[in-house]
Amino acid sequence: MEIYRGEELIQFADRFPTDVACLKYLSEIKWNNGFKCLKCGHIKFSEREKHQRCCTFCKHIESPTAGTMLHKVKFGIRKAFLIMFEMTATTKGLSSSQVSKRYGITRKTAWLFMHKVRLGMESSQSLPIEGIVHVDEFVVGGKENNKQGRSYHSKKKKVVCAVELNDKKKVKRVYAIRIEDYSSKSLRTIFKKHISKTAKVRTDEWKGYRPLKKDYHIEQILSKTGHNFKELHIIIHQIKSWLRTNYSWVHKEHIDKYLNEYSFRINRSIFKETIFHKLAERMIGGAHFGYEQIKISI
Ligand SMILES: [Zn+2]
Repeated sequence: MEIYRGEELIQFADRFPTDVACLKYLSEIKWNNGFKCLKCGHIKFSEREKHQRCCTFCKHIESPTAGTMLHKVKFGIRKAFLIMFEMTATTKGLSSSQVSKRYGITRKTAWLFMHKVRLGMESSQSLPIEGIVHVDEFVVGGKENNKQGRSYHSKKKKVVCAVELNDKKKVKRVYAIRIEDYSSKSLRTIFKKHISKTAKVRTDEWKGYRPLKKDYHIEQILSKTGHNFKELHIIIHQIKSWLRTNYSWVHKEHIDKYLNEYSFRINRSIFKETIFHKLAERMIGGAHFGYEQIKISI
């Protein structure tokens, strides 16, 4: 198949002028390695309208979006493509009210679809960080007082962030996940998901990291109010201001989805040309998340 490359909106809109053009693209992704009937496993098919495929054995008809995260998008697949493209291309973040106005859909529909896209952006966790990584925590939606104390009782939403640096101390990848508290057990989650046991980890002197030293290479150094973790703190500052600007109030259930979106974009910023394709692949190939799995709290 011919992978879509590019960052320009007009070029993108020209490449996908109709719903059918989008469905063709999705069918090429979905059946890139050949067709296999969902019902009976037969591999021969005949092509139907809108790039649906009909099994020649059991006659089951399957659409390119069936069983994927793009199933039953009620406002049309072309709008879905454009929203996905904008979400991958923007650096400032897109709000559901902007999307609702621009695409003529309700705010709730925009909000739900965008959360679905964020689920598609979730890391596959297949490439843990192997090199240099700095780890720290921060709170969302307010100032943290007396960080050294790391209050266990604070109601603020807490996040732990891992930043991978290259040899020149430039940021390579970023992962961040919400944590309930600053205990070792909670901090371990980001290590398990994203950090290899061979990585060289650096944290400040918080005691919560000590028990993790049994399993990971962790060096603990004095933070000096962030001076020893400059790159990490720039990223933390970016995430906080991005969340603050676009999503003034984020329910704790949803923070991880916004963090997925941030990581997906930053971790692919050197592959910007193919970022839309990567997302489309995830939405087609990844597990099917229904709207019902996104808790509604608006
Ligand atoms: Zn069949």
